[in-house]
Amino acid sequence: MMDSEKLISQLHGLKAVFDDKESELTALDREIGDGDHGVNMKRGFSAVAEKVTEGSTQEILKQTGMTLMSSIGGASGPLYGFSFVKMSEVAEDTIDSENLATILEVFAKTVGEKGKVSGGEKTMFDVISKTADLLREKGSLDLKSLQALADDTEDMVATKGRAAYFKENSKGTIDPGAQSAVYVIQALGEGVQ
Ligand code: ADP
Ligand code: MG
Ligand code: MG
Repeated sequence: MMDSEKLISQLHGLKAVFDDKESELTALDREIGDGDHGVNMKRGFSAVAEKVTEGSTQEILKQTGMTLMSSIGGASGPLYGFSFVKMSEVAEDTIDSENLATILEVFAKTVGEKGKVSGGEKTMFDVISKTADLLREKGSLDLKSLQALADDTEDMVATKGRAAYFKENSKGTIDPGAQSAVYVIQALGEGVQ
């Protein structure tokens, strides 16, 4: 169960996670993008840690979304940002596993609509869209299962975002946004344990 205090602590924890994973995400985005995804995620969640400090569960998710939208440049900012705003609309005061599954469905729906993306296009959607089912099947979201979803993007050919310019050459690299989605969703999943 995740109340507002726990949610804040999980979201603030992502600052340290993205400090740690910045170089990994940068390396992936250097292969099939412009090399800024690590910096983007780090900047976004540093801003969240600084600015989102109180409120109800719904307010925290909404403020997180607004903060990500205004602090992350690039494609991932509006996608993550708008998703958190939409997720706030279905969140309960205390998020349990079933509510998190609903939240993750909204996450996927929002990225799908805003990114005009579906499965197999080598984006964050490939991770996000499978996590509600994963949570319902397993009862939790373990890092290994989440990472397997990101790993599946390695063999895909990108048809959305900057990576699409690389065409066939986008094969062989995990999508940077799929990798960052692993960490974002892991933090939310840990919160309900
Ligand atoms: P930019 O590509 O503008 O530099 P980032 O590097 O921060 O932005 O984010 C790149 C990630 O955004 C990609 O790895 C991919 O997962 C995601 N992305 C890009 N375009 C789309 C889209 N149309 N739909 C879903 N995800 C997308
Ligand atoms: Mg980039
Ligand atoms: Mg960029």
